[in-house]
Amino acid sequence: MRLFLADEIWKNKRGFPFKKPVTYLPAGYHTGQDFLTDSVGKVPVVAPCDGILTIYQLSRSAGWWGTYSFEYAGNKYSLKILHMYKEMKGGKYKEGNILGYCGATGLSITQKYGEAYIGESEEEQNSDKAVPHLHVELHKGEYKHDTNKKRGLCDLRIIDPVSIFEKWLNKKQAENNKMIFYKESGKSSVYLKGNDNVYYPIISGKHFISLFGNWKENTIKEIDNINPKSESYFGLFKANNEGDYDVV
Ligand SMILES: [Zn+2]
Repeated sequence: MRLFLADEIWKNKRGFPFKKPVTYLPAGYHTGQDFLTDSVGKVPVVAPCDGILTIYQLSRSAGWWGTYSFEYAGNKYSLKILHMYKEMKGGKYKEGNILGYCGATGLSITQKYGEAYIGESEEEQNSDKAVPHLHVELHKGEYKHDTNKKRGLCDLRIIDPVSIFEKWLNKKQAENNKMIFYKESGKSSVYLKGNDNVYYPIISGKHFISLFGNWKENTIKEIDNINPKSESYFGLFKANNEGDYDVV
């Protein structure tokens, strides 16, 4: 599982937020999250995990759009992506594959321009009235589009994509960061406790970061003393049973 947009856009380029779940889509409610993308045809939307993209006809409001269906933690979800630059290609995708590029098709303008539809041509998408952005909706279960009513049967299953994705990814982050580092009181060395209950010495600073990523993201426990170690290797370091270690 990953974000479907680059971190920088995810954090800094949010437009209209998700308002609240509704039975249908009465005018005035915003049922997704907008991300401002500044340019057309350049910002990729990637598959958050393995799944299937279903595409639809060009819509005067949604522009080029599609729904990406996937399963996560035993549940089915559909991620609806709107205002894409060009028609996408339906079918199976793997996590990280590019589904398409953000554009300004359909109703992709700010309210100050009133109710108007633009963005079908490349010229319109690049005009000063266009506000290139990605509108994302997350639906629990299979999203079904009713072409006769021209509205999605979203029901109460529509949920906030931002909070849900952040919850999923933070959980994954926590699972990836199970390493606990130990610091012996009064000593500068830091140790990682291996699965075999042996404490492996770690050097802090640059080398540490290159081996383990961000220091601050991991837990460091201070303890009174560390059990004697058997001779063991860990990365660049070799420990002996006196507790000393050498760079090897
Ligand atoms: Zn929107």
